Amino acid sequence: MLEHDVIIVGGGLAGCRAAVEIARKNPKLNVAVVAKTHPIRSHSVAAQGGMAASLRNVDEADSWEAHAFDTVKGSDYLADQDAVEILTREAPDVVIDLEHMGVLFSRLPDGRIAQRAFGGHSHNRTCYAADKTGHAILHELVNNLRRFGVQIYEEWYVMRLILEEGQAKGLVMFRIEDGQIEVVRAKAVMFATGGYGRVYNTTSNDYASCGDGLAMTALAGLPLEDMEFVQFHPTGLYPVGVLISEAVRGEGAYLINSEGDRFMANYAPSRMELAPRDITSRAIAYEIRAGRGVHQDGTAGGSFVYLDLRHMGKEKIMSRVPFCWEEAHRLVGVDAVTQPMPVRPTIHYCMGGIPVNTDGQVRSGSQGFVEGFFAAGETSCVSVHGANRLGSNSLLECVVYGKRTGAAIAQYVQNRKLPTIDEQRYIKEAKEQIQALLDQPGQYRINQVRQAFQDCMTEYCGVFRTEELMQEGLRQLQDFQGQYSQIYLDDKGSCWNTELVEALELRSLMVVGQMILASANNRRESRGAHFREDYSQRDDTNFLRHTIAYYSAAGIDIQYLPVSITMFQPQERKY
Ligand SMILES: Cc1cc2nc3c(=O)[nH]c(=O)nc-3n(C[C@H](O)[C@H](O)[C@H](O)COP(=O)(O)OP(=O)(O)OC[C@H]3O[C@@H](n4cnc5c(N)ncnc54)[C@H](O)[C@@H]3O)c2cc1C
Repeated sequence: MLEHDVIIVGGGLAGCRAAVEIARKNPKLNVAVVAKTHPIRSHSVAAQGGMAASLRNVDEADSWEAHAFDTVKGSDYLADQDAVEILTREAPDVVIDLEHMGVLFSRLPDGRIAQRAFGGHSHNRTCYAADKTGHAILHELVNNLRRFGVQIYEEWYVMRLILEEGQAKGLVMFRIEDGQIEVVRAKAVMFATGGYGRVYNTTSNDYASCGDGLAMTALAGLPLEDMEFVQFHPTGLYPVGVLISEAVRGEGAYLINSEGDRFMANYAPSRMELAPRDITSRAIAYEIRAGRGVHQDGTAGGSFVYLDLRHMGKEKIMSRVPFCWEEAHRLVGVDAVTQPMPVRPTIHYCMGGIPVNTDGQVRSGSQGFVEGFFAAGETSCVSVHGANRLGSNSLLECVVYGKRTGAAIAQYVQNRKLPTIDEQRYIKEAKEQIQALLDQPGQYRINQVRQAFQDCMTEYCGVFRTEELMQEGLRQLQDFQGQYSQIYLDDKGSCWNTELVEALELRSLMVVGQMILASANNRRESRGAHFREDYSQRDDTNFLRHTIAYYSAAGIDIQYLPVSITMFQPQERKY
């Protein structure tokens, strides 16, 4: 059996930042990071636009309080304000700390860190490295892991959280290269497994964003919080869905419909293209519904709108958002200097997740915590984003709460012993689970079931939701779950069996999809990213509270957690 003081699942910003903090606090601790990708291929590396912090390098009038207010208003008042206060107060320090680790942020002419405008932020406060911010930060963090001697298990797939008597004791994982199964025991287990964009058919997320950590947590009997809040990013490149960063609008690009109008004037006149993502995505969906979308040949009535950069000029485009120019050029043959880009909303971010307190300790329910279990980053819900995240607040969350969780873990494991685990039992069960999948005499291909499931989630739990749609979605989901036990795998081997990994990931996707649908169906109001045509108003009397959902084979049980309101009383949300 493998043993570590701390095992962290996830090599993205949250996992790496936590590992660095543990090593800084107590260099003697034996810390390991495990990831199913190479850590540098974690989705964090794809983050483009930047990371918010009220450094006041560009905008002297900014403050952490203004950042906190924007975040809470952006969240449609569902964010926990104690957590938002920590996020925004600590932001300037964590940015400077990253800079000291070696992160190359873009600069102002006088050498200070540059800051740009971003949706929903009332001041220019987003720090960036051109439009490759995640790349710049993750590379330095991974370098630092190596410097601190953190052990990295790269390309190992974690398939189970070992939870016994309310305590997380370790993991079951296998090496993708040769199928070797190992049990790891540890004094503390941390999940930093990222989001679940692949639950939907069009997403900006990478192929690894399958919500594995969420599914393993739910399958262990622990709750997930606010899973109904799924963020659609307004500008996914049509038809591929990859992200065109909000930085492009932050630098001045326009959204226009088939009539050439900047339609955001009708939805958010004071913020225009820089309204929060939920509002901008819905505006685009309304324009397309009303027949003012564009077809490939430029005529009206199609299923995308234009993102127009032409007035920005070649020099600005190439210096501030070169990667977005390249994406459009490479993927759909559009030269944004002379042509508008075709865009429409794409699934981007998971506001909900594993419920944690501000030290990253996982909650076991509305009261109490799980011993030895921590989480941070996109897979967690602390909750700083509430019903809608503001752009450039997620990298910030990963770094602020990755760091805090790391510090809390370093403290937690002091003077603790390694737990005892029946290794043979877990190895046997893992082997049986894998063998059963390999032996299944099925009739369905993974791709077929996954595609049908993703289409179902997109159609029945998308931008616009109703009870009728979601009930149909839940019904269809049962069919897909039945089909899962009739999936046929071609590859029966143990060497780089990526088909087997995909089968396990599909199980995660379906558990997460069911949690999203059931939580969304239960929330009979519209708030942030969750928009119900049958309950189109926000209902603070009944729903100013967090959903806590428990998974079981029989169905999903829903309970609630109160929202922490310390600074800003809920108001109507207008831009
Ligand atoms: C295209 C794009 C651009 C973005 N731009 C911005 C931006 O400009 N600003 C901003 O604030 N936010 C941005 N975001 C959001 C932000 O990047 C993410 O929310 C954040 O990086 C998530 O980091 P993380 O550490 O939580 O997880 P990730 O970086 O997603 O890492 C997850 C890790 O978990 C591992 N893992 C998962 N499951 C398993 C398993 N079963 N076994 C082993 N390992 C596993 C993966 O291998 C990976 O290492 C963007 C997101 C996307 C998709």
